[in-house]
Amino acid sequence: MIRENSDVILSVQDLVAEVEGTEILKGVTLKVRAGEIHTVMGLNGSGKSTFSKVLAGHPDYTVTGGTITYRGQDLLELEPEDRARAGIFLAFQYPLEIPGVSNLDFLRVAYNARQAHHGHEELDAFDFDELVRDKLDVVKMDASFLGRSVNEGFSGGEKKRNEILQMALLEPTLAILDETDSGLDIDALKIVAEGVNQLATPDNAMLVITHYQRLLNYVVPDYVHVMAGGRIVRTGGKELALELEERGYEWLSDVAEATAR
Ligand code: ADP
Ligand code: MG
Repeated sequence: MIRENSDVILSVQDLVAEVEGTEILKGVTLKVRAGEIHTVMGLNGSGKSTFSKVLAGHPDYTVTGGTITYRGQDLLELEPEDRARAGIFLAFQYPLEIPGVSNLDFLRVAYNARQAHHGHEELDAFDFDELVRDKLDVVKMDASFLGRSVNEGFSGGEKKRNEILQMALLEPTLAILDETDSGLDIDALKIVAEGVNQLATPDNAMLVITHYQRLLNYVVPDYVHVMAGGRIVRTGGKELALELEERGYEWLSDVAEATAR
């Protein structure tokens, strides 16, 4: 089937990026359409987090080549906060703790900023409280977490679930989950996976970065990409993840080396 270009959410072409003068991404090319779940896999140090941070607009990362187009717009021209308002959401591999700011206030500020951006009504504390309580079910989180400082003293699994809660509230067009599955026990993993599955719609897209195949027992991607040496060296369907589990990543590192510039 030939699809319209209009349902392309993210188009990355030959992306080169560096951090502190070291080139990490060496030509990443990727296209994500509405309704798709993409997985990026790869060894530690292959550039996965760098890729996610470049997409979010992290100031430490400098793009030195290539293009990123988000819903037809040059993403590189947008400041990080504008990217977020435009519907890009990044769940961090290591979620930040914000002592002294209650989780509920934090979520409401983020939610209302998005509402304002779209010209929609902002919610007062009372109405927001009601909304957020509905969303707590998605991540099976106890309401007591709303009154605590953002992520402070949260366990690894609780932090990751809190990221999914943010995502459930913000309803991003492009959700990027950077190893949201890492360090989770099986119950937390299932909750995160269910959250992803519940929040995936025909209108949005997910970029799920993971080191492990096990998440893909619960989240079924349309595409699996393998990153090695700052490039995507192989793309396939969900069966590629199983192949990786069986064969490891080494054979692909050789591919990466052979094709490096
Ligand atoms: P992954 O998420 O796949 O494990 P990263 O994107 O975190 O990989 O890292 C890719 C490479 O970039 C690594 O060699 C890492 O040391 C380097 N790198 C990442 N961030 C920085 C930074 N802020 N300063 C220097 N090097 C960095
Ligand atoms: Mg990483």
